[in-house]
Amino acid sequence: MLHYSCDICKRPIVAGTDLRHVVKIEVFPAVEDQSCGCPSGTSSHDDVDNLDEMQELLERLDESELADLEDDTRSLRFDLCDACRQRFVKNPLGMKGGKQLDFSNN
Ligand SMILES: [Zn+2]
Repeated sequence: MLHYSCDICKRPIVAGTDLRHVVKIEVFPAVEDQSCGCPSGTSSHDDVDNLDEMQELLERLDESELADLEDDTRSLRFDLCDACRQRFVKNPLGMKGGKQLDFSNN
């Protein structure tokens, strides 16, 4: 029999007694679709310029940066007890106090 514990308060979650909630968070970089970057109706010599720019871009974006992009993707999974689930949905990012308009604190 599997035993779970709450990832926030560490309380054991007993199957059949406590409600267990699973939170899944996916974090990944938003990459805009650049497949249609070429303006339509360009003449051939403009295309050559675009190809040069593309080549420069590809040279700047080397393999290590592409690997970093992969590494930015995170899929997180948490088990929460019912009490922590209620707190989580009210404040998913764990912001302090919940006062989101308090920018003048200096
Ligand atoms: Zn909890």
